[in-house]
Amino acid sequence: MNKKLTICFLLFVLLFSSISFADTTFNVMITDLTEVRDGVYGNTVGYIKKNTVKTIYGKRLDGNGRVWYRVWIDGKAGYIYGASVSKNLREVEEQSIKITQSLNVRRSVWGRKIGRLKRGSVKIVYGKRRDASGEIWYRVWYKGKAAYISSKYTIDNSKLIAITYDDGPSAQYTNYLLKQLKKEDVKATFFLLGCNIDNDTKHIILRMKRDGHEIGNHSFSHTYMPSQSDAFIRNDFGRTDNRIKAITGEKPKLVRYPYGASDDRIRNIVGKSEIYWSLDTKDWETRNRDQVKESILNNVKSGDIILLHDIHKTSVYGSLDAIKVLKKRGYKFVTVSELMRRKGIHMKQSGIYFSANE
Ligand SMILES: [Zn+2]
Repeated sequence: MNKKLTICFLLFVLLFSSISFADTTFNVMITDLTEVRDGVYGNTVGYIKKNTVKTIYGKRLDGNGRVWYRVWIDGKAGYIYGASVSKNLREVEEQSIKITQSLNVRRSVWGRKIGRLKRGSVKIVYGKRRDASGEIWYRVWYKGKAAYISSKYTIDNSKLIAITYDDGPSAQYTNYLLKQLKKEDVKATFFLLGCNIDNDTKHIILRMKRDGHEIGNHSFSHTYMPSQSDAFIRNDFGRTDNRIKAITGEKPKLVRYPYGASDDRIRNIVGKSEIYWSLDTKDWETRNRDQVKESILNNVKSGDIILLHDIHKTSVYGSLDAIKVLKKRGYKFVTVSELMRRKGIHMKQSGIYFSANE
C-alpha cells in the first residue's frame, strides 16, 4: 500500500514538474559566453557560445534563492545561472517567415554566400539587423549555424488575424472592449459611424488611436449607398472623415460600406481601400456570447478578417472569449493594414480586400 502511494506521489511530481516546465518555455539569445552545469550544484559540462539562440525549458531555484535556467546542451539537460539573464540573455520573439523567391543565405549581412533557400521554404527568424542602406536582414538558423537572409523576398508566416468591429463607437461597450484588448495585447480595426462620433465618445476614439488600433470609415448614416446620389455619398463619408480627423489628426484610409454594399460609382467617389471580411460571425443576429465565440473558433484560419459589432455586449464578450483561446493556439491579432503588410499584400487606394488569403 505504501509503495503504491509512493509511486502515485512520484508520478504526480513528475507530471506536475513537466507541466510547470512546459509553461515557462521561451527562447533567448545568449549574448556572451555562458557556462552550463549538469545541475544547480553540478559540474561544468560545457559552454554556450556568444550569439546563440537557446530555448529555456524551465526555472529552478538553488538554496540561496538564485534562479537557474534549464537548457538542452549536447542532447542533455543543463543549467545556466539566471543572474546573467539581464546581462547575457535577451528574450527572442520567434517569427515564422516564408520565402517568396529563391534567396541567398549569408554568413553575415556583408558576409559570403553559404547557401540558397528555395521559394516556399519556411524559416524561423531569431533577430533582425539593418545594413547601411537600411535594408532589413533576418537572422536564421541554416545547417546548424547562424546565418542571414534579406527580408525583401519573405512574407510573415505567423498565424495572424485581423479582428474588426463595426457601427461604433458605443458609449456603453467600446471602452470596456479597449481596456480588455490592451490587456490581451490585441490590435483591432474599428469601422466607425460618423453619427456616433461626438463629444461623449471622443475619448474612446482617442484611446483607440493611442492604443495602436486602426480606424476606418463606415459612413455617417449607415445608409444603403447604391441608391443614394453622388452628393449624398460624398457628404456622408466626408463628414465621417472630418470628425475622425478632428480627433486623431488623420483621415482613415480604409472604408467598410454599410451592408457591404458598393459599386464602381461609390468606389470612385470615396476612394479608399475597401475592406470586407472572410469570417462573418453573424453576431448582430445571434446576440449570444457563446455563439459569437464558437463562430470564431470553429471557422477561423490565419489571414482572416473577422466581422463583429462592438455595439452589442454579446459581441464584445464573445470575441474576447475567442481571443483568449486563439492566443493559446498561437494566433496574433493585428490591424487590417498590418495583416496585409505582413502577408506581403500591397493595399491599393481603391483595392477590394476580403482577407490576406486570396
Ligand atoms: Zn454596419
